[in-house]
Amino acid sequence: MLLATWLDSLNHVVSSGMLVALTLICLLQYVGYLWGFNHSRRQERRFQEELEGLECELSLAQKDRSLARYENVILREFLTQEDSERALGLVLRRFIVNPESGFAAFYIRSETREGGTHRDPANQSGTGDLALVTSRGLSQKSLAQLQIDPALRNLAYVQGYVRLETAAIQKTDFWNRLAPGDRMKVRTLFFIALGDVGQRFGLFISTDLYPPGCAHSEQMELACRLMQTVTYSLKHKQVQESQQLQLRTTKEILELRAIADRHYSKPLGMLDDFLKHLSEKVGAARTAVFMHANESNYTKALARTGPNLTPGVLEQWQRFEALLAMACKDKSEPCEFDENALQQIGVPHLIGSAMVLPLLQPTGRTGIMVVTRNSREGFSFEAQRLLAWAGEFLGETLFRTLMQARVEKMAHQDGLTELANRRTFDEEVQKELRFARTSGTVVSLLMLDLDRFKSVNDKHGHRTGDQVLRKTAAVLRDRLATEIRAGERGFAARYGGEELVVVLVGIGFEGAKRIAECIRRGVESMPVDLPGGGLLRVTTSIGLATCPIHGTSAEELVSAADAALYLAKASGRNRVGLPVAALV
Ligand code: GH3
Ligand code: MG
Ligand code: MG
Repeated sequence: MLLATWLDSLNHVVSSGMLVALTLICLLQYVGYLWGFNHSRRQERRFQEELEGLECELSLAQKDRSLARYENVILREFLTQEDSERALGLVLRRFIVNPESGFAAFYIRSETREGGTHRDPANQSGTGDLALVTSRGLSQKSLAQLQIDPALRNLAYVQGYVRLETAAIQKTDFWNRLAPGDRMKVRTLFFIALGDVGQRFGLFISTDLYPPGCAHSEQMELACRLMQTVTYSLKHKQVQESQQLQLRTTKEILELRAIADRHYSKPLGMLDDFLKHLSEKVGAARTAVFMHANESNYTKALARTGPNLTPGVLEQWQRFEALLAMACKDKSEPCEFDENALQQIGVPHLIGSAMVLPLLQPTGRTGIMVVTRNSREGFSFEAQRLLAWAGEFLGETLFRTLMQARVEKMAHQDGLTELANRRTFDEEVQKELRFARTSGTVVSLLMLDLDRFKSVNDKHGHRTGDQVLRKTAAVLRDRLATEIRAGERGFAARYGGEELVVVLVGIGFEGAKRIAECIRRGVESMPVDLPGGGLLRVTTSIGLATCPIHGTSAEELVSAADAALYLAKASGRNRVGLPVAALV
């Protein structure tokens, strides 16, 4: 009985335990199922996510690859260009395929281009501190007046770029300054900053992005990426260009200095040579140097250089040079003239652009240099730098050169009449006659002696006598300038006392007779002021001889002219005497 009860309770316990065990097993199995189910769902989700991530990365990589491909194409073109402006030009061509329907431009802070080939920022189409480097699709009219609103520039500098749609663009000053033809090209306008944050140095402005037809976000990303590379490369190129230009300028300065150190038979020859080389180096058509001391209207230049021009054109050009010198006569800084500035001072044509430089010395102004060219394109920064140096250099050396020239001139010139002196006459006439003998050229000689000059001195004093001599010399110069024709030459000298002499090269007996008569009449009608008031009239007698008719050596010719002069005196004075042979 006890066993049965025990067995029964055991049976009960076992069956309850089984039940619990079974329940536990089932529960565990269910939990296991649930866990496994969730795990696989998680795995599936993770897998899905990974798949999506991969797809995204793949599309990003694809996008990146295609952007990189476009970027590479442009950069390859850009980096293979030596000249940075050309390189930027190629980038512009990519962005603006058709300049009739869009435009783009690079603007760079002026001081970053100091070493480049750019002009003074104050004188170029620019935007305050930003100067145009290169553009595509913009008309000259737009370029001449375009300004980028400072607020717009600052925003692009802060954000990296600014995108404006038509309505917003129309509120800008940039739009106001855009020529109507260029306004038609604008739908959207992008301003992309060049340089790193905090070190911005310019803007790329464009109506279109690259590549055409691509998603806008991708175009924007590509443009920003490109501009970063362009920026670095540009800075590098500019440093290189700047160093090269500095080297070139130094070389040119040394070359010009070497000219000044050379020995010249005539001191002004140095100035002529210097100006010729300077003109070539800065791309000028003509250069003129005027002295301040003896110029009030800048008609007589100390030196001029430039190719031959037809007489009318040359005179016109020289008149314009004088106007330029007048306009800057009180300036102590170089002045640049563009088309508009030239028009304002009365230079409407012939000259397209000009630079006028004061020639300064510590003690004051020595002169003024006028550099002109036909082209409207202004002088490059490099040319301006060389011109500024040349101005300073000439300011210092010009005075020295002129002093030398003066000494030189004095050695060949007669102090009273400023005609050639006797020594120069002797040398020159020998030279001319030597040449005449070999070439068959005719040479005539006029010998002048003032009539009754002794009595002029006696009656009116030596000062008046000197004045008569000076005025007679002026008549000679004037008549030679007006009477000598193309292919002929002539010069006057003081032979001694009140005797003057004229050498006429390429002028035969008849021509010399005409000129002698002309001079005689000139002296006759020449009034000389007397110190006490009133006018004095004098006359001159002239003897004439021609080589080879009356002699072939200087001595023969002088003595034939002297004999003719004697005849003129003997036959009543105030007349042209001819050699005896010519009278027969
Ligand atoms: P004739 O018509 O015969 O030539 O008479 P003339 O009085 O001119 O005679 P002559 O030629 O002999 O006189 C030359 C005078 O010129 C003498 C001299 O006083 C003067 N004379 C020479 N050189 C100068 C000069 O530099 N200045 C001045 N004032 N007089 C000079
Ligand atoms: Mg005499
Ligand atoms: Mg005399």
